[in-house]
Amino acid sequence: MIDRGIKVCVLRIGHRPERDKRVTTHVALTARAFGASCFVLGDVEDRSVSESLRKVCERWGCGGFEYVSGVSSVEFVNKWKSLGGSVVHLTMYGLHLDDVINTIKSSSKDLLVIVGASKVPRIFYELADFNVAIGHQPHSEVAALAIFLDRLFEGRELHLIFSDAKYYIEPSVKGKKVVRVE
Ligand code: SAM
Repeated sequence: MIDRGIKVCVLRIGHRPERDKRVTTHVALTARAFGASCFVLGDVEDRSVSESLRKVCERWGCGGFEYVSGVSSVEFVNKWKSLGGSVVHLTMYGLHLDDVINTIKSSSKDLLVIVGASKVPRIFYELADFNVAIGHQPHSEVAALAIFLDRLFEGRELHLIFSDAKYYIEPSVKGKKVVRVE
C-alpha cells in the first residue's frame, strides 16, 4: 500500500457471485496492486474471490493489505463516515475527476472508494461525499478504479514492492525473469 498518511479502502458493491467472480477478483487485485490498504466485498461472501487474492498474496506478497467480505455495504459506509472517513463513489454520472481530484487529495481523511457492479442503489449517491466520473462514458469498474488510484497516488503505486513477497520480477526486454526472495 502507498503511505499517504491515510487509509484508502475499496468497497465493491452489487457483486453477483454467479457472474461477477472474475471482474470482482480483478477489482480486488487492482486495489492491492494500485496502493489501497484494503478491499471490502459488500453484502456477500465469495470464496473464489478470496482464494484468488490469497494465492496472489502468497506468491507476490500483500503487506498489510486486508480483505473483508460479507459486511452490509450501507452499514460499512455509515461506520466509515462516523469514524471521520470520507467516501468517493465512482460513477460516470458524477463530477469529472479533473474537477475534484485536488480537493480529494488535499483531505487528510481516510478514503473509501466505492465501485459498483449491477445498478447502484440511489443511497450510495447520497452517502458519497464525492460522486466521481472517470470520463462520462460507460466503461469498467477495473479501469475506473485503476485511474482513480493512479491519480490519487500520482503514479507512485506502480513502484510498489510488498515486504512479504516470496517472488519479485526483474524487468527484462524479452522473456520473464522471476526471482525468489532469499
Ligand atoms: N449499470 C450500472 C449503473 O448504472 O449503476 C453500472 C455498471 S458499470 C459496468 C460498473 C461500475 O463501473 C460502476 O458502478 C462504476 O463504479 C464503474 N464505472 C463504469 N464507468 C465509469 C465511469 N465512466 N466513471 C466512473 N466509474 C465508472
